[in-house]
Amino acid sequence: MDAEVTIFDKIVSGQIKANIVYQDDLCLAFHDVNPQAPVHILLIPKQRNGLTQLSKAQEHNKEVLGHLLFTVTKIVELVDELKQGFRIVINDGENGGQSVWHLHLHIIGGEQLTWPPGSSGTQKK
Ligand code: 5GP
Repeated sequence: MDAEVTIFDKIVSGQIKANIVYQDDLCLAFHDVNPQAPVHILLIPKQRNGLTQLSKAQEHNKEVLGHLLFTVTKIVELVDELKQGFRIVINDGENGGQSVWHLHLHIIGGEQLTWPPGSSGTQKK
């Protein structure tokens, strides 16, 4: 069973406005309302179809998962600020910092990004 309707379903249906960058039959890309970099785009499957988070993916989701990654290349063609590089982030679950339970790729760029990510400062032993 899918979890309840999320804000992203409302963006797909047009109930909530978003600044759309790209869409096709399977996916929708729009600017994040709270950008963490000069360019911060969210890319989602239009139909959640069980993909509340990446770790819930099943065999029948493989096509749309591949489609999402391939679509990143189309978005880069459209957004000049991404042409010098970018980062894809998928937050999964509580520890991953996920807050919307509809799979989404963060496409982040438009400046020199730092590495590593993470926030606690805890080092691997
Ligand atoms: P998560 O934390 O689940 O990985 O990412 C959810 C993202 O959705 C956050 O970066 C947040 O700013 C974004 N977001 C939440 N609500 C809205 C909204 O109504 N419109 C847009 N465009 N982005 C949203």
